[in-house]
Amino acid sequence: LFDPAYLRDRIRTVPDWPEPGVQFRDITPLLQDPKSLRVLVEHFVFRYMDQKIDLVAGIDARGFIIGSILAHQLGLGFVPIRKKGKLPFTTIAEEYELEYGSATVEVHADACKQGDRVLLIDDLIATGGTMMAGRKLLERLGATVVEGCAIVDLPELGGSQLLRDSGLPLFTLVDFA
Ligand code: IMP
Repeated sequence: LFDPAYLRDRIRTVPDWPEPGVQFRDITPLLQDPKSLRVLVEHFVFRYMDQKIDLVAGIDARGFIIGSILAHQLGLGFVPIRKKGKLPFTTIAEEYELEYGSATVEVHADACKQGDRVLLIDDLIATGGTMMAGRKLLERLGATVVEGCAIVDLPELGGSQLLRDSGLPLFTLVDFA
């Protein structure tokens, strides 16, 4: 059960979604199954329970699901990093490049404070652009991003390497080629 292969088997690959040629790694079966959801959470809890962390920040939208469970389990608060235009209060924003066009993520200006040690979480790392942008937001608010974590890494897209090379420690459970 605790072999990450158990989690891998519950990730569904959807061909040609959201566009032709893309193999979408769908974590909804993993979330839906009570055993794999619990095993997933326990992997993250065991990694972070003894670390000095002040806050969990999750990235829109699947990072909210696992990030808020993890925050609760660690006895920490949760901060959402959202796509542009969703947060009601004063925000700061980071724009980043996608394969076609660009995207923007935002966080509330009071989401964390100088010196906070933040764990950044999302479901999946592809090119690494989203996690890099999330990290920049938190660092602009004076926080230290202790580690980036995700369920899935797509190492062939180079994002995880890019993030590690930039000095961000990363923890992921399942690789897909
Ligand atoms: P990146 O910015 O290229 O690393 O893309 C990662 C972001 O896109 C994450 O927020 C993911 O939720 C989303 N994403 C990209 N590809 C997939 C996929 O195959 N399955 C699930 N999410 C994906």
